[in-house]
Amino acid sequence: MKYVEFGNTKCTVSKVGFGGMRFDLKKSEQDNIDLVKYAFEKGINYFDTAPHYCEGLSEIIMGKALKDFPRDNFYVTSKIMPTEIVDAEDAYNRVRESLSRLQVDYIDFFHVWCLRKIEHYHLAMQPNGLYEALLRAKNEGLIRHIVCSSHQPSDEIIKVVENDDFEAILLGTNILNFPYRHEGILEAKKHNMGVVVMNPLAGGAIPQNEDKFSFLCKGAPHLTPTEAALRFTICNKNIDVSLNGFSEKEHIDMACKIADNELMVGLNEIKQLTTDLGTRFSAICTACGYCDMCPKEIAIPAFMQYYNEKIMFDLKDEEMVNELTQGFGVMSNSKGQAKDCISCGLCEKKCTQHLPIMKRLKEINTWFDNFNKKHDLS
Ligand code: SF4
Ligand code: SF4
Repeated sequence: MKYVEFGNTKCTVSKVGFGGMRFDLKKSEQDNIDLVKYAFEKGINYFDTAPHYCEGLSEIIMGKALKDFPRDNFYVTSKIMPTEIVDAEDAYNRVRESLSRLQVDYIDFFHVWCLRKIEHYHLAMQPNGLYEALLRAKNEGLIRHIVCSSHQPSDEIIKVVENDDFEAILLGTNILNFPYRHEGILEAKKHNMGVVVMNPLAGGAIPQNEDKFSFLCKGAPHLTPTEAALRFTICNKNIDVSLNGFSEKEHIDMACKIADNELMVGLNEIKQLTTDLGTRFSAICTACGYCDMCPKEIAIPAFMQYYNEKIMFDLKDEEMVNELTQGFGVMSNSKGQAKDCISCGLCEKKCTQHLPIMKRLKEINTWFDNFNKKHDLS
């Protein structure tokens, strides 16, 4: 495993981090605990979690796994959204609840979580708000470093980091959409912040479409597109920790092997990728699931995953109609259908990628109509 100094925090972190938002809950709790332990034994020392991940079980699994290891040998995180607290006292109590679930005396990196727009940052910083609570927790030794996670574009990230309130930042970036947050990452580095990224495989879009993503391997032709995507975030000098949402030991092995063996991504490679990608990959759904609260029970992430195909491969409407039989698989489990959308806008307020979900559902509905007409199903 490779390790780096984490901004100004005086911590030394592993290039590969364990993202605790994708535990496989069909497996036993013990299997998931063993997975975390396996990662630690492979040299991973950065474990990211949050209260709502995995139906509230992620912190508990992490706590049960990490309690067997010396406390100085790993870093663990947690998070609170500025929009979910009543006041500073409420936030402070939530920090204590995370400590209890994680079974630790202190949390290394505590996030002001999910900044989607600049107003969320201002909300966190206002008197009697989240930041005040985290300062109190820090003064009492309950947390070590105050950090943030952001789903904003670069210009807004820059506005957040230039105030030097945070010691590190967590961002969604990967080999497909990195131009969207590249400038923000560079600015964070300029401010000597630690930089952590999540979602290295674009919500599974890369492993699921390897045949179409061979162009991602130009800089390392011996790798598969999935491996090339992992290398892009793990072996990147602007990124300190690449979080991977592990659910299998083999995934941990693959990420560790890349950290150990692969060369750093070069400037020319980044330029080439930027040209090859254009800008369209910034608009893909990352399957984060934050929008999965539709009152009409539309499984939005599933529909948006299908829409990804149009963006990633520049498909025409007619081609999307022809491919619908393949899309049925992911969308058929949804109780609500695209036509059921009442345009309430709740999902778009939550979307971490700022996607026009309602407009896309309308398009998908048109594809369904055309499919039915074509096959005489209407
Ligand atoms: S806008 Fe449509 S898809 Fe989004 S939450 Fe409302 S009903 Fe559901
Ligand atoms: S539509 Fe947005 S919030 Fe929903 S899963 Fe996709 S990226 Fe996440």
